[in-house]
Amino acid sequence: MVKVRFAPSPTGHLHVGGARTALFNWLFARKNDGKFVLRIEDTDVERSSKEMSFEILNALNWLKLDWDEGPVYQSRRLRIYQRMAERLIKEGKAYYCYCTREDIEERKKRAEEQGKSWKYDRRCLNLKEDEIERFKKEGRPRAVRFIIPEGKTEFHDLVLGDISVDNEEIEDFVLLKSDGYPTYHLSVVVDDHLLGITHVIRGADHIANTPKQILLYKAFGWNPPLFAHLPLILGPDRKKLSKRHGETSLLAFRDRGYLSLAMFNFLAQLSWSPGEDKEFYEINELVERFDLNKVRHSNPVFDFEKLSWLNARMISRLPVERIWDELVPFLQKEGILEDLEKNMDWAIKMLSIVKERTRNLVELASTARRYVRRDFNYNEDAIRKYWKDGVKEGLKRLKSVFEKLEVFDASTTEKALRELAEELGLKAARLIHPLRIALLGERVSPGIFDVLEILGKEETLARMERALKELPDV
Ligand code: GLU
Repeated sequence: MVKVRFAPSPTGHLHVGGARTALFNWLFARKNDGKFVLRIEDTDVERSSKEMSFEILNALNWLKLDWDEGPVYQSRRLRIYQRMAERLIKEGKAYYCYCTREDIEERKKRAEEQGKSWKYDRRCLNLKEDEIERFKKEGRPRAVRFIIPEGKTEFHDLVLGDISVDNEEIEDFVLLKSDGYPTYHLSVVVDDHLLGITHVIRGADHIANTPKQILLYKAFGWNPPLFAHLPLILGPDRKKLSKRHGETSLLAFRDRGYLSLAMFNFLAQLSWSPGEDKEFYEINELVERFDLNKVRHSNPVFDFEKLSWLNARMISRLPVERIWDELVPFLQKEGILEDLEKNMDWAIKMLSIVKERTRNLVELASTARRYVRRDFNYNEDAIRKYWKDGVKEGLKRLKSVFEKLEVFDASTTEKALRELAEELGLKAARLIHPLRIALLGERVSPGIFDVLEILGKEETLARMERALKELPDV
């Protein structure tokens, strides 16, 4: 059975690269009826925090990536790693190292001064018995280092193909630090083995770690899992994606009004394509189509504009009922949630029209506020452009026409407005633009007659009244 894991270190926000790794693992697990494990790699005590772990769980929940096992916290498994390191010592595959960081820095510096490249010089592998005894007596702190065997390490990466590394290039890396904490290599190998992970799918920034980890599997006598390294995500300038390019933390996108499904679609299609010409997919459609063998080698570019376009398309195409839960916090922030909840039928009708033109949920909520509350500011540009040439007179006439209407739907108001325009010898637009300003304070809006129907007669008249009172006489 396929079993994969997402193994974030809670040392910072979950950024979009990490989220893509999680998502590919999840898609692969779901596609193969396998299991998706969440493991929190929190052994770097100084840099890890509970808040970040919590935020990562939140971010995964937002993307709807559910896990079947875990979260497994590595910080609670220290004894396991220590025992495994001891086992390698006993088997002569690892050794205690008493060098301090300063010792090593010093030797490294000297080597570099002589123009030599440096890797750990195995000083502690070659310690004499009496030296070891002395260090032990002194109670010197000691780490555990792994003995890199001679030869080559070769493996087939499911995305990047065959990879071969000369073991000469690898130093005897530390497995267990002198404070008893494992290094990443030890804990990752032990846990992936003990959890029965079959495929390690992670970012290509880990590719240099893989030969070291394969050597560890071999030292333990375990079969390594299969590896798939996902190409790094680039910014629009084709340099490694970073803060310089804009926001990269996953939840920042949520807070800016991106739909989770938009983010899901966008991340899924970084390095992989479902292969059809569809604007977006439901999650189950992506699961059905997902194929790890089709992940591209080339580095994908994080196209902020494409994501924004996708989000706008989805907001416009999905029914209000499907975006409601994600919209709620934004409506709350605008202070209009309760008003809308009191009249859900109206809310759905209004939002269905308003969402046609909004790019994100922040905009949708703030535009929706104009429909709920009458106290908006009039857009200065709109006034400059359309509040002129005797508009007030026209609007006054329109108001009295509207007052007399008994039915106030889109077609009745349209007919009434057009008749009045004809009577006044004006183009309908000459009434429509100022009317829009009066009703919503904006230059653009959905079709004005739909807006009239949504607002209803009483509210329309009140808004016209306000504009006639507050806007300049022209
Ligand atoms: N904790 C590592 C990271 O966040 C996980 C690497 C791996 O998947 O092996 O990069």
